Amino acid sequence: MIRVAQPCVGEEEVNAVREVILSGHYVSGPKVKEFEDRFAEYLGVRYAVAVNSGTAALHIALAVLETGPGDEVIVPPLTFFSTIAAVLHQCAVPVFADIHPESYCLDPEDVENRITPRTKAIIPVHLYGNSAEMDEIRDIADKHGLRVIEDAAQAHGTEYKGQRVGSLGDIGCFSFFATKHMTTGEGGILVTNNEGWADLARMIRSHGMADRDSHDYLGYNYRMNEMAAAIGIVQLGKLDGFNKERIENTLFLINELDKRNIPWLRTPALKEHIKHTFFWCPVLVDEEKLGMSTKRLVELLHKEGIETRHRYWEPLYKQKILTDKNVCLNRLGIQVSYNNVYLQNAEKIAGKVIGLPNRIGLTKGEIDHILETLSNIK
Ligand SMILES: *Cc1c(COP(=O)(O)O)cnc(C)c1O
Repeated sequence: MIRVAQPCVGEEEVNAVREVILSGHYVSGPKVKEFEDRFAEYLGVRYAVAVNSGTAALHIALAVLETGPGDEVIVPPLTFFSTIAAVLHQCAVPVFADIHPESYCLDPEDVENRITPRTKAIIPVHLYGNSAEMDEIRDIADKHGLRVIEDAAQAHGTEYKGQRVGSLGDIGCFSFFATKHMTTGEGGILVTNNEGWADLARMIRSHGMADRDSHDYLGYNYRMNEMAAAIGIVQLGKLDGFNKERIENTLFLINELDKRNIPWLRTPALKEHIKHTFFWCPVLVDEEKLGMSTKRLVELLHKEGIETRHRYWEPLYKQKILTDKNVCLNRLGIQVSYNNVYLQNAEKIAGKVIGLPNRIGLTKGEIDHILETLSNIK
């Protein structure tokens, strides 16, 4: 089976963890501090706060920016669920704006359509390793006095006009889950240039403690542990190398697929001003031209020994947690219905994008097998 993703770790990570285990210092120690400093430097921001998941980073970001009950937060409909779970945990209302049909990221024009007097923030998600159009989103946010939280959980090292994503909004959030560009097993980080927000984020991640005996804020236990940070330090040192190989594999696949001109398959549109790091190699399936469903295609590829990614099958506004009025916000007395939400571009694309294997260590033979199989699929 040609795997689509695989954590890339070796003896260096093992040794780094071993050293921490034997040191007996597992929480809030030098490794977390070092990892935060290095990550902030990598992104070109002043502060980084390491936490135990990307979801925790998003949740803290919303809390720091004082997003609360009834506030509206504009989000894309194609993303991992935790982008909106973080909003819901603050009892705030996710408001969906459509995606751009080529970038698969938030369409700035539609973002502006969704703004109301209750809008508090926008969460652009840099989907599949691409970047959202940050200048346009920043302009809209400034015009309406909104905050921007970047969900960069799929875009470590991606650049927008020469700057790394995550550093462009008010707060940026990353995940280090096992399959992401780099991993700490589980983990996440929040970055910002605002000292006050960084301090508050540190407090929220550790039980809202101002000091050992004072709880000044209703916080959480969202801390990253020292073992995870030790892995993160090693992985961060390898990130540019990982990305280089991921980009090479993907561009090779895209070029070869374009040459073969397969009528049912559309390769991703690339932009000069964005350095895409291809968390996925996303190809769009034209089911009519192919004569079968994307689900069937995925099964066929699997039989040929090719694993693919195939998310997200449906726009998030169709999830039960939003459509069933007994489940979530309405229970808190916040009246909101998602039953009439319909975003054209998201509906067209959902369930029809598959991610081809593009990971580190893919061999020439494996790439050839992928290309041959796609060319000959019937
Ligand atoms: C992975 C991911 C997250 C969540 O990160 P976890 O570390 O798994 O909590 C959030 N948003 C997006 C877009 C993701 O891909």
